[in-house]
Amino acid sequence: MNHRQAKWEEPLIIEYLPKSETEDVDLPIELQEIKRKKLEIPDLSELQIARHFTRLSQMNFGVESGFYPLGSCTMKYNPKLGEELSPLISKQHPLQNESTVQGTLQILYELELMLREIGEMDRVSLQPAAGAQGELLAMLMIRKYFADKGEDRRIVLIPDTAHGTNPASATMAGFEALTVPSNERGCMDLEPLEQSLSEDVAALMLTNPNTLGVFEDEITKIEEIVHDQGAALYYDGANLNALMGWIKPGDMGFDLMHFNLHKTFSTPHGGGGPGSGPVGARGEFVNYLPVPLIECDDGIYKLNYDVPKSIGKMKLFYGNVAPLIKAYVYIKCLGSEGLEEVSSQAVLNSNYLKEKVKKYLDVPYKELKKHEFVVSSTEKKARDVAKALLDRGYSAPTTYFPLIVDEALMIEPTESESKEELDEFARALKEIVEEEEEKTKKAPQNTSVKRVDEVMAARKPVLTWRMADQSK
Ligand SMILES: *Cc1c(COP(=O)(O)O)cnc(C)c1O
Repeated sequence: MNHRQAKWEEPLIIEYLPKSETEDVDLPIELQEIKRKKLEIPDLSELQIARHFTRLSQMNFGVESGFYPLGSCTMKYNPKLGEELSPLISKQHPLQNESTVQGTLQILYELELMLREIGEMDRVSLQPAAGAQGELLAMLMIRKYFADKGEDRRIVLIPDTAHGTNPASATMAGFEALTVPSNERGCMDLEPLEQSLSEDVAALMLTNPNTLGVFEDEITKIEEIVHDQGAALYYDGANLNALMGWIKPGDMGFDLMHFNLHKTFSTPHGGGGPGSGPVGARGEFVNYLPVPLIECDDGIYKLNYDVPKSIGKMKLFYGNVAPLIKAYVYIKCLGSEGLEEVSSQAVLNSNYLKEKVKKYLDVPYKELKKHEFVVSSTEKKARDVAKALLDRGYSAPTTYFPLIVDEALMIEPTESESKEELDEFARALKEIVEEEEEKTKKAPQNTSVKRVDEVMAARKPVLTWRMADQSK
C-alpha cells in the first residue's frame, strides 16, 4: 500500500491549536476574556468532506442545472473559454511593477475601448465590483462635479420601476432620492418628471429598457428636459442585453452609465464569482473617474494616477480582474455583429415566451417588450407559482418586483435558451396555473430543502456544517 492510499483511509485530523493555547502569551485582561479556549472544528475524513461538498453542490441550482429565468439578472450561459483563460491571470500579484504586467494591462485597456464603443462613452473605469458599486461611484462623481461648479443640488430622481439599488446608491452618496411615478404604459411620465425637476436636482437615474421590459421611447424628450435643468442623466446598464449593437446609451444622451459584466457580458454571478460593474462617463464627467486610469503611450501601458479632479479610489487596484478577463473573451469571441445577434435573440426569446404565457397569465402594460416581461399572477400567489416551478426543475423568476405590478413574476429567458426549453417552461407554467391550489401551496416537494420559513431563515440562519441526517 503506498503512502497516498494509506492517507485516504485514515480520517483527516486537523491538528491545530492556536498559538496562545500552547504558549503563555501575555494578553491584556480584556482579551483574555474573549480568548478561545478550544477550537471546535469537525473531525472528518477526506471522503466525508468530499461527499459533503458534492452533496452541497447537488443541492444548489445554477445556469448549468436548468433554465434560470431570473428577471433583471440576465442569467445567461457562461462560456467555458472565459473560465479557462481567466485563472491564468490570478498568478500575478497586484503590486507587481507595471512593466511586468503589460499583457494584463493591455487586455484591460482593450476592454475599456470595447466598452466605450458599446456604450458610446468617452472613458470607462473598470474598478467597481458590481452594478450597485458602479451606481455609487457615478453618484459620487456627480456630487463632486456639482460641488466644483458651486451648485448645491441635493436631489436624485428615480422612476418607480427602478431597482432598489438606485435609491440606495443615491442616498449613500448623500443625495435625497425622489420617486417619479410611471404612466399607464409603464414608462417615465413626463409631467411629474417636469414638475420634480428644479435647480436642486443633480441627476435622473434611468434603466432603459426599464424593469417591465419596456423601452422608454420618450428618451429624447426626457434627455432634453433633464439637461435643460442642468442635471445629469445616468444610465443603469443592467438591461443592456436588450440593446447591444442597436442603440448606445451615449447616443440616447446619457452622461454616465454602468455596465453589469456579470449580466450582459456573461461572467458568472450570484454564488458563481465576484462581479464587475464598470462605469462609463462622457464630457466633463470623465475628469471625475477613479484612479488609476489605464493609458497606452507608444505601446507601453501605464497606470495613471494623475487625475486632479478624480473622486479617488473605488476599489483596490484595478477592480476584479478575473471577470474582466471573462468579459473581454466574451466580447472578442462575438464581435460587434455577435453582440447585436445576442440582443436580437434575447428579445425574440422573451417575446416568444410572453406570447405563450399570456394565454393563461395576465401581462400588464401592453407595450412592446424587450428582453424580459412581467406577469401578474392574480389567481395564485406569485410566491406559490415560483415554488412550484422549483419542483419542475426550474429556477424561480424574480418575484414581487417591480413593485408597481401586483403578484409580479419577472421572466427573462436570455438568448441562451432554445425554443424547446422555452416551450417546456411555458407548459410547466400552464400546468401550475391550472393545478389544484392546495397542491401549489405545498410546493416545493422535490427539492432538497422544502418550503423554508422565510422569517426564521433570516433571523436564525443555519450556516454551519451538519451531518446530513441532522439537517432534516
Ligand atoms: C442587477 C441590477 C442592478 C444592480 O447590479 P448588481 O451588479 O447586482 O449590483 C441595478 N439595476 C438593475 C435594473 C438591476 O437589474
